[in-house]
Amino acid sequence: MKQIAFSIKSTLVALLLIMSIIANGQDKKLPNIMVLATGGTIAGAGASSTGSAYTSGQVKIEAMIDAVPNIRTLANLKGEQTANVGSQDMNVAVWLTLAKRINELLADKNVDGIVITHGTDTQEETAFFLNLVVKSDKPVVLTGSMRPSTALSAEGPLNLYNAVAVAASPKAKGYGVMVVMNDEIHSAHNVKKMMTTPVQTFQSPEEGMIGSVSFGDVSFFHKPHGLNTITSEFTVEGAKELPRVDIVYGCADMSSDLIDIMVKAGAKGIVIAGVGDGNMNAGTLAAAKKAAKAGIWVVRCSRVPIGTVLVNGEVNDKEFGTICGGELNPQKSRVLLMVALQKKRSWDDMQKLFLEY
Ligand code: ASP
Repeated sequence: MKQIAFSIKSTLVALLLIMSIIANGQDKKLPNIMVLATGGTIAGAGASSTGSAYTSGQVKIEAMIDAVPNIRTLANLKGEQTANVGSQDMNVAVWLTLAKRINELLADKNVDGIVITHGTDTQEETAFFLNLVVKSDKPVVLTGSMRPSTALSAEGPLNLYNAVAVAASPKAKGYGVMVVMNDEIHSAHNVKKMMTTPVQTFQSPEEGMIGSVSFGDVSFFHKPHGLNTITSEFTVEGAKELPRVDIVYGCADMSSDLIDIMVKAGAKGIVIAGVGDGNMNAGTLAAAKKAAKAGIWVVRCSRVPIGTVLVNGEVNDKEFGTICGGELNPQKSRVLLMVALQKKRSWDDMQKLFLEY
């Protein structure tokens, strides 16, 4: 009799537990991860599974999560649709919205990490921006895909599974913002989109990937270079917009009036995707010096995809008032300059930022 009563009692306890998990959709033993969706090819759809034509940002976040087998065994997941665009249309307004929402979410002790689904075209810029302005050491992971959801061998579901596994991993705390694609974990500081459409497009050519993740099994190899998140001095709290910064692409015999045109259009900063070690022809250099004298920040980077631009190399930055972009490519230098321009700075101070972040 006693035994029957005991087994009824334990069944009731188990039932109550299951009911409470169903009621608030949470398993207390699992980490709580928020997925913020912004669109991209991972949410893209096309008419044919073997054709190259498709449109980014067609699938909503809940459908994307539900399409990934076993993903809810990794974490309690909630999705939010922050935007739904191809990342060629990513903009400062969405960046500011993301930064605000992520800081809000991560300040909550019940949120353990964030995954952002994002188009790959400008993913490195969003990752680097968030690396500068997120104020938490909890994991923030961006992911995407090269093949739309309707394609043969679409890799989005496994990328999303792995991104959630990294965000949910206690090992991932303190690595700054990361990009997880193709079984690799990259730091926001170093990651670059290196190829137009292959799935192995994201690489960290200078410092290598910081870790790997295989079917949710996470390993880290080394810490990322550069200040980030809780060690970053930057904030965009309360910011409604960021100063305009444009990029000039260098080439042989480049037109030397491009800098003047951008300054007239209202640019507060100009990044030169220079040739070689951040070089530009004599006419452009003269325009750069003039702009720098007039208080417009000019940053020298390179159109060459790999390597560091050296301070005072063929161009004497200190004398000319230009800033050397160091390890940062033109698009990431633009992001750093936009954020740094929120405050008045000396040349030394600005140059230091480009070597530290
Ligand atoms: N154009 C797409 C985007 O960046 C490409 C991709 O996601 O792979 O949104």
